[in-house]
This record gives sequence, structure tokens and C-alpha cells, in this order.
Amino acid sequence: MMSLTVLSLPQRYKRLLQAMSLAVAVVYMTLLLYQSAYGYPGMQLQPQISSNLLDGTEAATTTTTTTKTTTQQQQHVSDQSLPPLPPLHVVAGVAGAASPSPSPSPITPSLIIRKDIHSFNFSDIEVSERSTATLLTELARRSRNGELLHDLSQRAVTATPQPPTTELDDIFISVKTTKNYHDTRLALIIKTWFQLARDQTWFFTDTDDHYYQEKTKGHLINTKCSQGHFRKALCCKMSAELDIFLESGKKWFCHFDDDNYVNVPRLVKLLDEYSPTVDWYLGKPSISSPLEIHLDNKNATTNKKITFWFATGGAGFCLSRALTLKMLPIAGGGKFISIGDKIRFPDDVTMGFIIEHLLKVPLTVVDNFHSHLEPMELIRSETFQDQVSFSYAHMKNQWNVIKVSGFDLQTDPKRFYSLHCRLFPYFSFCPPL
Ligand code: UDP
Ligand code: MN
Repeated sequence: MMSLTVLSLPQRYKRLLQAMSLAVAVVYMTLLLYQSAYGYPGMQLQPQISSNLLDGTEAATTTTTTTKTTTQQQQHVSDQSLPPLPPLHVVAGVAGAASPSPSPSPITPSLIIRKDIHSFNFSDIEVSERSTATLLTELARRSRNGELLHDLSQRAVTATPQPPTTELDDIFISVKTTKNYHDTRLALIIKTWFQLARDQTWFFTDTDDHYYQEKTKGHLINTKCSQGHFRKALCCKMSAELDIFLESGKKWFCHFDDDNYVNVPRLVKLLDEYSPTVDWYLGKPSISSPLEIHLDNKNATTNKKITFWFATGGAGFCLSRALTLKMLPIAGGGKFISIGDKIRFPDDVTMGFIIEHLLKVPLTVVDNFHSHLEPMELIRSETFQDQVSFSYAHMKNQWNVIKVSGFDLQTDPKRFYSLHCRLFPYFSFCPPL
């Protein structure tokens, strides 16, 4: 106290300066220590590392499987002057599975942490934030280069040594609908199960509809296919569903009709039992023996007879990314429609023809998918939790619907509100328990 008061003015300034330099040194040391331990994921990286990571031309010196895949992928794409492909699911997956264990060097671990963060965010943003219009434009451009896309994606997929657990966000759920069903079927889906998978579900329709575009937060895709329940229109929509799935980079493609109720958590659990890097065609046939069709054979007097199973579209079915990549060269970029034209069968049969007959991948029957070709009332209510899909139909003045207590038949003739409240009782429109 005393000594301070007796200090002269220049001496006081000197002390002040010393104190300030000490403070600066302490802060600087803390920052250095922090950086070497954790890195700065949210801030600018060391210049040569950050720019390489972001433009994807990372040198193969930071050796992981991810690095190599991404590098080849990006370089190959830029050769073709196409925008970089989303690094697919593999980036997050491989980063987790194949990252080397931290080396003793204090620098390497933080590099790996930074790289993983960037790879992961990059893929997420690429996939989820692109608008439908952009997806369609990109698809149109890339479908001309189907082989390239196939090659790149195939490499990326086969690079996954151990598939990570399936999450909802790994699934692309597509629902086929049409203008005349927006107010009835689409509205019902939006109020119920869509709320549990808003970011993952896309509706494929045949008109612009601003009202439902807004209700689905931009998830209504006008395929520009014709309206009507005829083969060409249905195959046109399925073709669009498949192509947009391929562009999405998701691991699983699941198709449903607009009269399906999808039990979202059960769907995720189902797919978690299978690997998206293996060819999987999961669904349920509605006939008891394989379909027999006769193909026109121009070079012979007799027609060729073939048999195959197909999953009923009205029950929903799922395809692994690995399988869809095999389909890409023969059925991608609109070619699905030509195959439908050739065999002259509807979309779900065409799907079975491509997968079972052309690609020789057998249908794996999953009994938990249900179309209204089955009597819905036979599904026992104790098993609702375990069913992946449900449906309804009104035929000959009779409803084919599930037997579930809840809302009265006038309020809920299709029984989907009651089913939804049975599965998810906390929803706002459900009666208090
Ligand atoms: N659908 C369509 N255009 C139509 C009629 C139906 O895209 O003109 C779609 C409909 O939205 C549904 C599927 O095709 O997803 C099957 O239609 P529906 O349930 O009416 O007939 P089903 O084939 O089941 O008897
Ligand atoms: Mn139907």
C-alpha cells in the first residue's frame, strides 16, 4: 500500500505494463495448451489443412480409408466438371470405423478430430439442405453419367468395413400420391406418422400444390408424371422416387403408397437388422406363388417364360443402397420406365422383375409389411408395435381396416388416428390416458 503510493508516475506505468504483459503471456499459454489438446473445431484451421479438407483435395498423407475414398471421389468428379458428390453415408461411417487409434504425437489426434467433424458436417449439409429443384437438376445432369455415379458410389459403399447402426436419418421414405388424394390420404399421413419422420419422408405427386408444399415443409415433389392409375404413370413416379433416392446418398430406400401407415420406429429397427452395403430387397408378396410372365422374344417363335417374386407396392418395401447401385446402370435415370414398358406390368412388378430376374437378388419376405390386399382385421392389436406398415381400403361399401379401439368410426373410418394414438399416445390430438 505504502510502497505503491510512494512510486513515481513513470514507475507506476512500468508496473502496469509488466502486469499487462504477464496477463497476455498467461492467456497465450492457455490458448496454446488448449489448441494442442483439442484443436479449434469451430474456428479457422491451419491454412493448408482447412482449405484441403473443404475442397476435398486432401493429400493422402493423413491416411485413413475415408481420406482415400474422398480424394479419389472428388478428383474423379472434378475431372468431369460436375459438382462434388455428397460423400454419401460412408464418410461418417468410415470415419468412425476406420480412424486409426490416436498416435502418440500430440498433433495427429487433433487433426483426426478436425477431419471427422468436417467430413460429417459436409455430408449432412449436402444431403439435407438441397432443395428438390436442385436435386432434380443434378439428377438430370448426372443421369447422363450414370456409370460414373455408380462407380464412385459403389467404391464409397464397399469401403465401409463395418456398417454403423441404422438411424432414421439413414432412410429415404418415399410416398407415392396423386392430386386427387392430397386432401384425403396425404392430409391423414401429414397429421400422423409424417410428424415422426418429417425430414426423411418425401411425397411424389403429379401436380404443384402450394398448400401441401407448405404443410410438408417443401417435401412434395411434382414428378410431372401423368395423373392416373395406369402403368406408365405409376412407373414414372417409381422411377422418380428411385432416382431421387440415389441422389440423396441415404442408405435405405423405402417406398410406400399414400394409403399406408408407417410405424416409423419399427421401420428403423427393421433396417438396423440388415446391412445397407449388402443387396437387400425387403418386402412382402401378395401372391402365394411367384409371378409367371411371358416375355416377347423377337428372334423366336415361342415366348420366353420367366418367374419371379415381387414385393407389393401397397405394403411398402425397402431396398439397400448397395442394391439400388446395382440397379442404377439398368434402371436409373428414367430407364425404369422403359423396363416397365417392355414387360407391360405395374411399378411394383417391374421392380421385382429388375431385382429378382435381371439382378438375381431374391426378395426377402418381411411379414410385418401389410397392404389392403390382406384382411386388416387379422392383425392383432397386441402386435401393432411390431408391424412396419398398415393400410386400408374401401371396397364394395365395406372398409378393410384394422380393428383398434379409439376414435369412433365416423371420425376415424380408416382407423389411422386411433392406431397412431395407440402407438404414440402423447400426440396432441390423442385423448388423455
Ligand atoms: N395413384 C396414383 N395415381 C392415380 C391413382 C393412384 O399415383 O391416379 C397412387 C396412389 O396415390 C397410391 C397408389 O397409386 O399411392 C395406389 O393407388 P390406390 O391405393 O388407389 O390403388 P390400389 O393399387 O392400392 O388398388
Ligand atoms: Mn391402395
